[in-house]
Amino acid sequence: MSFRATVLTLYPEMFPGPLAVSLAGRAKASGTWSLEAVQIRDFATDKHRSVDDTPAGGGAGMVMRADVLARAIDHAAPEGDPRPKLLMSPRGIPLTQARVRQLATGPGAVILCGRFEGVDQRLIEARALEEVSIGDYVLSGGEPAALVLLDAVVRLLPGVMGNESSGTEESFESGLLEHPHYTRPQNFEGGEIPEVLLSGNHRRIAEWRLAEAEKITRERRPDLWAAYQEAAKSK
Ligand code: SAH
Repeated sequence: MSFRATVLTLYPEMFPGPLAVSLAGRAKASGTWSLEAVQIRDFATDKHRSVDDTPAGGGAGMVMRADVLARAIDHAAPEGDPRPKLLMSPRGIPLTQARVRQLATGPGAVILCGRFEGVDQRLIEARALEEVSIGDYVLSGGEPAALVLLDAVVRLLPGVMGNESSGTEESFESGLLEHPHYTRPQNFEGGEIPEVLLSGNHRRIAEWRLAEAEKITRERRPDLWAAYQEAAKSK
């Protein structure tokens, strides 16, 4: 069964964009996943085809209308559609590799991309949208966020990555950031490849990589480090 993505957007021309090339593009061409970009404006009913209006209570900017968005969502995901409905949003739960992995084992996703100040709250509640953030910064629209999410999901779909194990040994999968990498040349501007990596001793190499991963996680991500130590305790 292939992973089916439907993206609701005011800019369908932004899709598949970068997802048409490389791993994701090949996987799409071979039917591992599919992508449909739906133009939200097609579900507007007034003669100006408006999708947004001024915010209740006043203030700057515009808000996407609940009625137009509801029609677009109901068209894209009729009753009984098993796919989760996501709203890209800086107020959402931050996206994690764990959530990405869950999505990749599911039937697909319906992804709503916000624009302007965001979307009417009643729509979020009425269609039980899961708000997902890709980080603590503000984009001008949900489209780049949807591309990020899909990129992360698609690379985990069966058969997409050549070397299956590289999917499970990466940053976040073990709760740690990844160890550093080296390749030829052996000497680069005076810098040598760490001796242990040339030793051929797989146990020592694994120990070195784990120690490096722990060091970099401790230095850069106290939050991940604390969670990792907590998990180690309960093992
Ligand atoms: N007024 C909003 C920001 C709107 S940005 C606020 O202060 O919270 C416009 C749209 O861009 C949002 O509706 C959302 O779809 C998208 N977007 C912006 N930043 C994002 C982020 N960090 N993660 C996911 N989507 C984001």
